[in-house]
Amino acid sequence: MVVENLAKVEKKVCAACERAGRRRDEVTLIAVSKTKPVSMIEELLPGGTRDFGENKVQELCEKYEQLPKDIRWHLIGHLQRNKVKYVVDKACLIHSVDSLRLAEAISAEGKKRGITVPVLIEVNVAGEESKFGVKPEEAEGLIREIAGMPSISVKGLMTIAPYVENPEENRIHFSNLRKLCVDIKNKNIDNVSMNILSMGMTGDYEVAIEEGATMIRVGTGIFGERDYNI
Ligand SMILES: *Cc1c(COP(=O)(O)O)cnc(C)c1O
Repeated sequence: MVVENLAKVEKKVCAACERAGRRRDEVTLIAVSKTKPVSMIEELLPGGTRDFGENKVQELCEKYEQLPKDIRWHLIGHLQRNKVKYVVDKACLIHSVDSLRLAEAISAEGKKRGITVPVLIEVNVAGEESKFGVKPEEAEGLIREIAGMPSISVKGLMTIAPYVENPEENRIHFSNLRKLCVDIKNKNIDNVSMNILSMGMTGDYEVAIEEGATMIRVGTGIFGERDYNI
């Protein structure tokens, strides 16, 4: 089932790329495996899927131990400073940096280990109270401060768009985030690259691709509905 689902998503990703005049290899499809068993992830490995997303540090670490080391684990959920030490050497990208204090903790841990930790800045595009992320107008200031830290490197922006029935409603948010990313990129801040735009989930990834997403995070569309009561 998982392999068939992935094939369906892949087809839609290709179609969206085509509509947008983009190459398929400009978009990384992250299979969001949170709450799902290792066995389901293993079903996707023979087909070549290597980018997986988890939103909890403990779950990411457990799966990391059990699965091949060439998997690229993306930490997409909120990160607490006291958990940074468990994840900096396991995640290929932390998508959810939204405070100076968190960035400082990541940089300090990276320095200790002699690595530079790649991160995205999470932006709350619609100003939803329930969501993490900085306000769009705060992103550049935070990025400038992080740029001065030794062992952390900003690679772009991430957002979790509002839950909507009609994905077209999120087009404006995706478009705005892309503009913000381009604006900051054009400032040529040292140690900041802004080449990654992580946006779009099961309900709206096609629109996100049309608006310039370079990473989409798809869970339900690949693994099915999540059951949080198990
Ligand atoms: C769960 C999650 C996703 C995937 O959501 P689906 O709607 O199941 O595709 C994407 N991004 C983040 C940050 C998530 O927590």
